[in-house]
Amino acid sequence: VKSIGVLTSGGDAPGMNAAVRAVARTCLNKGIDVYGVMLGYKGLHEGQFYKFNRHSTRNIINIGGTILKSARFPEFKNPQIRLEAIEQMKAVGMEALVVIGGDGSYHGALELTKLGVNCIGIPGTIDNDIPLTDHTIGFDTALNTIVEALDRLRDTSGSHQRCTILEVMGRTCGDLAVNAGLACGAEIVITSETGFDEEKVIERLRQSKAGDKKHAIVVITEHVTDVNELAKRIEAATGFETRANVLGHLQRGGRPSANDRVLASRMGVRAVELLEQGKGGLAICEQGGVITEVPMLTLFDSKRDVPEELYEDVLKLR
Ligand code: ADP
Repeated sequence: VKSIGVLTSGGDAPGMNAAVRAVARTCLNKGIDVYGVMLGYKGLHEGQFYKFNRHSTRNIINIGGTILKSARFPEFKNPQIRLEAIEQMKAVGMEALVVIGGDGSYHGALELTKLGVNCIGIPGTIDNDIPLTDHTIGFDTALNTIVEALDRLRDTSGSHQRCTILEVMGRTCGDLAVNAGLACGAEIVITSETGFDEEKVIERLRQSKAGDKKHAIVVITEHVTDVNELAKRIEAATGFETRANVLGHLQRGGRPSANDRVLASRMGVRAVELLEQGKGGLAICEQGGVITEVPMLTLFDSKRDVPEELYEDVLKLR
């Protein structure tokens, strides 16, 4: 392969830049031309390409967000739009593509591969919601951001003897919530993976209040319920003064953690090596500390393992 493009797509995640850098450096060291594609599949369709040199990815390994920007581009589900994107690639001689993003981005990548443009996916999302990889790029940084926020909330929650609810991201994946809950000594973790039984939650908090618990932390994944309304109901039912907080996009930003930079760097190298071998339609994974890859089709047919032990440990440590 003589020329490779790299793009970031879907939600941004800290560490994406480290992955872009790794892809670019690996290409340049192998004498392969490399282009940064702006704005995900939107930029691919519009031909927004920048040819990288050794200086293009200087000083980005430690920067959050993505220098290539990201965009939602539902039009890419249209086969005609994908053919037009391939024409743009051909115009500069770009033969293959590294796609850094989530599940949706992988679908676009597989469609391109079917059309003869080899694509390799790198899991970039704070949600950790991609099957067959232990971690996605951005998860560790976001987790640390949540832990910092929860530590601060614990100070004020304890001082005022309150129940504090914190809503975190993750879409349908509870990994951010359960790991943060464990790291911060949360009383209760609620995620859509384990189901939400409001009566049970209230009963547990009632028991805590009746015991010698002076404050409580509840971590909950987004989209499960309205946390402000939940706070009112908990307060009414338990007598625990309760406040809800939504951490929101603060979780997406910030300097990538060491773990995310290492993961991103290793995955970026691997992606280029696979394209060099003429492979496509594969998703890079980390399994037990080893960087490997699986066919995207296998990944789409797989379900994430719910880390039951972590949820059990939260209960054991109440
Ligand atoms: P993520 O990659 O984080 O899951 P999205 O689901 O928003 O984020 O997908 C990112 C982009 O990938 C979309 O805006 C679209 O351009 C492209 N995409 C998503 N699903 C498909 C699909 N089925 N076919 C082709 N392209 C897709």
